[in-house]
Amino acid sequence: MAEHETYPDLVNLENCEREPIHIIGKIQEHGVLVACDKANLEITQVSRNAADFFGINLKELLGKPMSSLLGDRQVQHLRESLKSEEEHEPQEILVKGKKYILLSHISNDSLVLDFEPVNEVQDPFFFQKKLNTILNRFQKARSFEELTREAAVVTRQMFGYDRVMVYKFDEEWNGVVIAECKDKNLEPWLGLHYPATDIPEQSRKLFLKHRVRIITNVHYKPVPIEPEFSPLNGEALDISLSGLRAVSPIHIEYLKNMGVAASLSAAIVVKGKLWGLIACHHNGKKYLDLYQRETCRFLAQMFSNEITLHETSNLLSKSELTENIRRQLMAQMKYHQDILAALNRDTVKFTDLIECTGGAIYYIDRWELNGRTPTPEQLDSLLENFIRKQSKSLFLTRNLSALFPEAEAYCAEASGLLSLRVADNKYILWFRPEVPQVINWGGNPNLKAYYNKKEDRISPRRSFQKWTEKLTGFAEPWHQIDKNNARSLRENMSYILLHLQRKEIEALNEKLLAAHKELELFSYGLSHDLRAPVRGMEGFIKILQEDYGQLLGEKGNRMLEMSNGLIEKMNTLIDDILEYFRLGHSDEITRTPVDTASVLKEVVELFNIPINFPKTSFKIQQDLPVVEGDQRMIFQLWSNLLNNALKYSSEEEKPIVEIGWENVKGRKTFFIKDNGIGVEPQFKERIFETFKRAAGSRFKGTGVGLAIVKRIVEKHKGKVWLESKPGNGSVFYFYLEGPNED
Ligand code: ADP
Repeated sequence: MAEHETYPDLVNLENCEREPIHIIGKIQEHGVLVACDKANLEITQVSRNAADFFGINLKELLGKPMSSLLGDRQVQHLRESLKSEEEHEPQEILVKGKKYILLSHISNDSLVLDFEPVNEVQDPFFFQKKLNTILNRFQKARSFEELTREAAVVTRQMFGYDRVMVYKFDEEWNGVVIAECKDKNLEPWLGLHYPATDIPEQSRKLFLKHRVRIITNVHYKPVPIEPEFSPLNGEALDISLSGLRAVSPIHIEYLKNMGVAASLSAAIVVKGKLWGLIACHHNGKKYLDLYQRETCRFLAQMFSNEITLHETSNLLSKSELTENIRRQLMAQMKYHQDILAALNRDTVKFTDLIECTGGAIYYIDRWELNGRTPTPEQLDSLLENFIRKQSKSLFLTRNLSALFPEAEAYCAEASGLLSLRVADNKYILWFRPEVPQVINWGGNPNLKAYYNKKEDRISPRRSFQKWTEKLTGFAEPWHQIDKNNARSLRENMSYILLHLQRKEIEALNEKLLAAHKELELFSYGLSHDLRAPVRGMEGFIKILQEDYGQLLGEKGNRMLEMSNGLIEKMNTLIDDILEYFRLGHSDEITRTPVDTASVLKEVVELFNIPINFPKTSFKIQQDLPVVEGDQRMIFQLWSNLLNNALKYSSEEEKPIVEIGWENVKGRKTFFIKDNGIGVEPQFKERIFETFKRAAGSRFKGTGVGLAIVKRIVEKHKGKVWLESKPGNGSVFYFYLEGPNED
């Protein structure tokens, strides 16, 4: 189709991609190449046709200063232009009275000069005048087809090629002719496809750089550069940046096989990527000078801009539409508790978001289907054996059966697959059916090349006759917008899933709290109901002791005593549990001023320390403050703490228990200190839980006392904690209210 430049040795098109086309040491015949030492401008290499153009013998040029060709004034001018950092501007130059355009560039140690003749144009501003009209015509185009057709028509009008085509690349770099304007005697090539190998990657890269490339005469004889190797470094001259660069024999043969004598290709670049080409063919020789090529480049640029505009506005209106659908899906997800219902059983479905004929959602362990899809069994296998194996969460193909042969069975439903992993075990799939495609190739693309024995090199296909291929198992291709939509949906879903999860946890928590409450009520009831039978037992034991004591003997009486002890323990336990639960049930407390000193006085009297703990020295700070709180609870709180302090220090030689307070950061912080057994660090928190005990069985207790203390403190929005060294006593601290200024 267009540029194809290769010098492969083997019948292997992979080679084409690697061929060093930039150092082909020959040029086309429409201009002259002169290379000189960039340091002193002494001429080092010249294309052999210099003699024909300039009428000067090669020998008179090589080794001579550039001024011998251009004269001092023009050389001075050239020197000036070389100083500028920017790309060297083209210059008009006279050699032997004939006008040329001089294009210069640096290649290693050489300055390479392309001399191109200037075409005689009647109206020098012809192109400039036309450009305005062209722009108008582009902007008036009502459809994309019209726009591309206009591009072909105006290019042909301006430059007079026999055939002008707009050629567009697909994702795999195959090309298709999407618009054409041609001489009526030529057969139409509109709609024909060409394989990617027709324009290999290196040629595409050069197009991106140079934008416009001409081949003036395929029947030309490549002009060698003399000498072949530069005297400056002994290497072949790199002329990749020269517009005169010769064309590979393969490409020449390719064009000849097509019946083309001259060509021009201009790159259409959209968003920095080679989108396609304006490809021009001519049946005879044709040369466009630099000014004309620049105009063509400008035209291609205007066309590229129009395409960008068209694609962008297309994308915008499409994304506006899908954005609304996505928003609606999001609203549905927020409304329904069930994701599947939200995405598939409401007004807008997940299949509306992306163009498809069916879709499936896999949610943990089941399928939710919509439209035309494979069966759930087929989907199970597709998921397990294919989709789960993809490393990326978003996967797409338009030819599933080529990757997963089993899918051939359902290619009518799912030749195209776009799969999205939303979260663990949650997938969404969209399907597109097989669209039997007839592709008209410009020649059989499978016969891209053959080995040319005579030339001992590869040759392109000889026939460009329309070759029809039927493609099976292919769906319409997916586009970037489909990917974007899938990704945004995933984001929305993740948000909703998280939200649902949180709700689930909250609901569970509520259930747990309810269950806990129920259990408390049950325990409360149970403890309550135990009271009567325990009292009954107490009564009977008393009767047994009083009325039948003598009959039972010493052993029997001891057993009755032990039973009494157990009953007493049971009573304390019941009392403690009931107290604890009672605290739990009254949510609000009534705060009144409570004088700590008088509460403690009562508590201490109750314990009757001198009688029950004769060894213990008990100290109490004098200025204990008034606090705000529930009088009864505060009594209970002190009594539990004091009970423990006395109990767990009772085995010391000289037990000391001390009560006091401090103002810490405005909080009335009380402490009760003992020099008893202390608490191991790992139990510091747990002893505040119900029935958790850390002391040995020699200390009586139910493990409820501190749980009651904690509940009371929390009901007062205060805090209780402990500092202790095991074996070295403990200090329990607490405060009941917020910071206080006094
Ligand atoms: P108990 O009836 O066992 O005393 P508590 O709930 O009052 O139940 O206390 C829980 C555990 O905390 C006790 O079993 C004991 O191990 C530890 N404990 C409480 N107060 C002290 C203290 N002053 N000194 C050492 N250990 C204590």
